[in-house]
Formats: sequence, C-alpha cells, structure tokens
Amino acid sequence: MAKREHTFKESVDLMFDRAAATLDLPTGLADQIKANNNVYQVRFFVKFRDSYHIFTGWRSVHSEHRLPVKGGIRFSPTVDQDDVEALAALMTYKCAIVDVPFGGSKGGLRIDPRKFTEFELERITRRFAQELIKKDYINPSQNVPAPDMGTGPREMAWIADTYQTLHPEDLNAIACVTGKPLSQGGIEGRVEATGRGVQYALQEFFRHPEDVKRAGLEGGLGGKKIVIQGLGNVGFHVAKFLEEEDDAKIVSIIERDGALFSDQGLSVEKVFAHLQEHGGVKGFENATYTQDGASALEAECDILIPAALEGQITLQNAPRIRAHLIAEAANGPVTYEADNYLREQGKVILPDAFLNAGGVTVSYFEWIKNLSHIRFGRLDRRHEEIRGQQIIDALEELLGKSVPDHLKSNLTHGGDELDLVRSGLEDTMRTAYQNIREIHLSRDEIPDLRTASFVIAIEKISRAYIEMGL
Ligand code: NAD
Repeated sequence: MAKREHTFKESVDLMFDRAAATLDLPTGLADQIKANNNVYQVRFFVKFRDSYHIFTGWRSVHSEHRLPVKGGIRFSPTVDQDDVEALAALMTYKCAIVDVPFGGSKGGLRIDPRKFTEFELERITRRFAQELIKKDYINPSQNVPAPDMGTGPREMAWIADTYQTLHPEDLNAIACVTGKPLSQGGIEGRVEATGRGVQYALQEFFRHPEDVKRAGLEGGLGGKKIVIQGLGNVGFHVAKFLEEEDDAKIVSIIERDGALFSDQGLSVEKVFAHLQEHGGVKGFENATYTQDGASALEAECDILIPAALEGQITLQNAPRIRAHLIAEAANGPVTYEADNYLREQGKVILPDAFLNAGGVTVSYFEWIKNLSHIRFGRLDRRHEEIRGQQIIDALEELLGKSVPDHLKSNLTHGGDELDLVRSGLEDTMRTAYQNIREIHLSRDEIPDLRTASFVIAIEKISRAYIEMGL
C-alpha cells in the first residue's frame, strides 16, 4: 500500500520547519510563527427553494504580527479547516516575502457554487459575510478578505455592501474587502493581478541565465513549451499573457473534464471561450483531447504551471513529471514528499508563496486606494504629461529639430492607474525573486528557492516579534 503523504497543512508546516532549522531563532519563536492563532467555524442556514439549506464555513487567522490580516475566501465543495489553516499560513509567509504589511488569514465556505443560482449565491454570500462581520473576521482594520477559488469581484461586492450596511458610520468601510469591481471601489488590474505576477516572476527568472541553466533550460520564455492546469482566474491570465506577450507555446491545458494537447500551441482565448460555453474543454477543435486530465501533468514540456488546486503533484506522479521548471501558480500544488523528490531530480520549483503573490500585492494597492479615497494617478497624471511636453519643447528649441512622433507620445504619456499598478506589481515580483535567489545561492544550507523564500518570511516575521518585545 502507498505510504500516506502529508496533508496540505502538514506539508506547509514541514516546509516551514525545514527553513526554520537553518536559522538561529530564540527558543519557541519558530513555533509561535508557525501556529495558527485562531480559527472560527460557523454553520448557518439560508432558506430557498422551499427548504432550509445549511452551510459550513471557516475563517482562520494565522498571524497578527501585522494588521489587518489578509487572505481570500474560497468557495469549494471540498474545502475544510485543514485547507483554510494551510492557506492562512501561506498568506502570512507570502505577505512577508513580497513586503506587503499584512498578517495572514484565509476563509472557506463548503459549497459548490455551480449548483446555485446567482440569486441564491448572493443570499448565501451575504449571510456568510454577516456571520464573519459579527465576529470581526471581516473589518477594514483587522481582517480583509479577497477572492480565491470559486469567488471573484461579484462576491466581493456583495461582501463590501453587507459590511457597509452593518457599519454605515465607518468611513473606510469599503476597504473591508479587496478584489471588488472597479465601480465598487476596486482597482484597475486586480482581476489579472495573480496571473500577471506569475508572468513577471517568470520573466525575471529568465533574466538570470545561470538559474535557467540550473533548471536544464536555455534562452528566454519565447518558444518554451508550457502545460497549464486550471483555466480559471489565475490560469487563464498567466496562460494568455505568456502566449500573447512572451511567445510561449501553450501545448496543453488541463481542466476538470480532461486535457487538450497541441504541439502547435493552443489559443488560450479560444479555449477559454469554449470552456465558458460548454463547461469543459472536451470538443475543442484542432487539439487532441484526453479525459485523463491528470496524465497531462506528465506531458513533455519545459514549464509546468499548476494553477488549479493543492495536492496535484505527489509521490505517485512526481517520478513521471517531465517539466524542467514547475511554476506554482496555485497554492500547495506539490506535497512535501514530492517537493523533496523533485529537488533531488534537479527540477526547479518557483514556490507558491512567492509566485502567486501578485494578487495580494494588488489587493494591498486597492486597500491603500480605499483608505486614501482617491484613484492612483488622479493628482499627477496630467502634471506628468505637461512635464513631458516641456521636455519636448526644450529639446526642440535647443536642437532646432522636431522630436519624432513616437518619442513624443511616449514622453507625454502620464501614468494612469493601470500603468502604476502594473509598475508596482512588476517591481514587487522582480525584487522578491532577486532576494530569494540571493539567499538560495549565498547560503549552502538552503537547497532550493522554496526554502529560501520561507527563510525570508521567517526572518522578517521573527524580527517583527523581537522588536515588538513579545
Ligand atoms: P478559479 O476558481 O478561478 O479557477 C480554478 C480553475 O481550476 C477552474 O477553471 C476549475 O474548473 C479548474 N479546476 C478545478 N479542479 C480542477 C482539476 N482537478 N483539474 C484541472 N482543473 C481544475 O480559482 P483561481 O482564483 O484561479 O485559483 C486557482 C489557484 O490559485 C488556487 O490554488 C488559489 O488558492 C490560487 N490563488 C488564487 C489567487 C487569486 O487572486 N484568485 C491568488 C493567489 C493564489
């Protein structure tokens, strides 16, 4: 019989322990950082279709060394307390790795959203939100959720409105949740943010030829063969950007009902449209289809991007993974055992707590926007444009020649909100990767990028505790 592998939460804790063991921390501090501070389980009912429907949900707070704590709310038929606690812990480490000043939290509601109408989902979401708000598990200064699997801007708008209804006196009420639609206090670029962050991180990885070589690859992202699992919010955006902007080839897309293959590369937009229309990838033209989606994780490719859910690469399938580079867009896609095995095989893993931090980074920008009550770029955009025009005028006067039109339009473009969000996100992902690789390469005892990213998180959080005097 196959040996039981560790659960998601156990895997995260073991990865933490591996990193903490390389540091000289005061006795007990690593345990304090690792422990989940609290978790709230709630059961509530909503009446519709002439009957009472009972739902179970959780919100876990992992670490409050910074406030508010931050982390998405997941709607999934399989989510449980273990998952929510593992995801909350990852949020703490993620925020520390990318220098976002939040603690970690996560929520989950055990529900299959596809089985309910929009009207029913709204009632369920609002009721769940009320339960969390009552206990301050949603609050702009204490605990700020965001979207995760099965939720998006629509659910965040319902949550924000529920909070505002209960707290009309709170000037910052709208900052109680991020990932809202733009018209409800959201920010440009939040929907694409996690996928965009994965793209920026991959671009940065390929700027370091020695890292690329260590993974057994060469060259840039152009032409690289990519397999992606999950064409949801994260998977769709990263696959689309890599295909359209980096000339990578998406050779396989894995969804719930199976996988598509094409040596020529799949059109992500077209597969996505098919998925929206038919609820699966089966029947998509000009591609080979297999019902055994999991087998596509083992397909010949350069980069494997799991972007669906946890526990996808285990000791069972790890020996057959052929990708050189595994980019963890999802949270927890590789178990602790598989992680050790893959490293021994020379595979390089870009770890989740760093790689998918684009979402929380732009959520941080949204929260700041909500607190400042002003859109980014509103004060300085036209001013920047005027400065650009002044530089052009000065150049033309000095040189006696006119500046070419393409240079003029670049120089007179003032940054709007999307430009600024993307710039902040790119800087965050690039800097974080540089810090992680630096730790990995400079300390012999740190075997991989995951351990290096945990070391960064633990060092920052322990410093916060020590300086606080706790
Ligand atoms: P989503 O619900 O938008 O998409 C998930 C996709 O995966 C769906 O298309 C679904 O059909 C597919 N899927 C589900 N089970 C599958 C399976 N067994 N095989 C193949 N495909 C399957 O969710 P999302 O927001 O894109 O989140 C995906 C992952 O990224 C999760 O691990 C989540 O925690 C993580 N994440 C999300 C964000 C965010 O901003 N949304 C941020 C950081 C991390």
